[in-house]
Amino acid sequence: METIAPNLPPDFAPRQAKALLVHERLCAEYGAPFRFFSSKDPLSELISALLSHRTRNQESHKAYQQLVARFPTWEEVRDAPTEEVQAAINPCTWPEQKAPRIQAVLREISTRCDGPCDLEFLAEVPVTEARAWLESIPGVGPKTSAATLLFSTLRLPAMPVDSHHHRVAQRLALIGPKVGTEAAHALLSELLPPDWSAQEVYDHHEALMFHGQKCCYFSAPACQRCVVLDQCPFGQKRLGGVRSSEPAAAGT
Ligand code: SF4
Repeated sequence: METIAPNLPPDFAPRQAKALLVHERLCAEYGAPFRFFSSKDPLSELISALLSHRTRNQESHKAYQQLVARFPTWEEVRDAPTEEVQAAINPCTWPEQKAPRIQAVLREISTRCDGPCDLEFLAEVPVTEARAWLESIPGVGPKTSAATLLFSTLRLPAMPVDSHHHRVAQRLALIGPKVGTEAAHALLSELLPPDWSAQEVYDHHEALMFHGQKCCYFSAPACQRCVVLDQCPFGQKRLGGVRSSEPAAAGT
């Protein structure tokens, strides 16, 4: 896992304790350890993550399958007429934006690596440096970099934060109500033990994501049956206010 910031805020310890308690309960609730769903190489995972931005899984999967069927190598995607790439990824949202972005990312990687590059070298780089390398590519944000490192065959302990995970973390006051998804990556990652394996980091992400999908809905969360209600100021307030001894959340 990434290194914890040296100057921790005073509420860090209680938030970390809460994050670990929530982890335990939600992992038990949803059946961790979870199987990794992907076995893509890191460059393929990066392109898949770029396609998945604000797109349903089924649609981004179809776009990815069409893209690799039309272009057998990433060099061919990089060098193809953009309109052909756009047509191949048509099932995902904003193909007209994603096609040139994907080609620009592939060109940037080729330039940096001085030729074809599958990103396998990132396995030998500390996670923090690997994330920084990826996020310095225009168009690659923290969610994409973490997905590339964790979900791919690299299996490195970098944590993505999707919209479900973000919503659950905000309601639990693990982060403040004004912290956006991008900023949440660093704040939520630093709550996890630095020696956690990729499997533990994956389980944490998946458990919070499942909770957002199966209980902590965007509208009308099912707080009455929530296994972390006693840790959740949002849910307690919704149900009539049980107590309010929560520490102030980071980054408010
Ligand atoms: S108590 Fe309600 S708002 Fe809080 S985590 Fe559970 S379902 Fe979400």
